[in-house]
Amino acid sequence: MSFYRSSESRRFLKPLKMGRRRSKRKPPPKQKAIMPLETQFNCPFCNHEKSCEVKMDRQRNTGRITCRVCLEDFQTAINYLSEPVDVYSDWIDACETANQ
Ligand SMILES: [Zn+2]
Repeated sequence: MSFYRSSESRRFLKPLKMGRRRSKRKPPPKQKAIMPLETQFNCPFCNHEKSCEVKMDRQRNTGRITCRVCLEDFQTAINYLSEPVDVYSDWIDACETANQ
């Protein structure tokens, strides 16, 4: 009886300060579309801000993130629901696992 898939539950752990409670876990259709989809993230290796860029290869179901400063990279499986931030959080998870 698991209602959450792991990649989704992680996203919903962050409490939203503003906004009404949504009964469905679908993103609201009319979000203010000012910001482009976030594809640049801080690097966990060299700690540069926004130095890591995610490329989503939807045809191969592969997400790849590369740091343009220290050239660390990471590749993970994605699905049609995946977003760049999912690739990034997979990377962080993999780093933490490797550091244990
Ligand atoms: Zn880096």
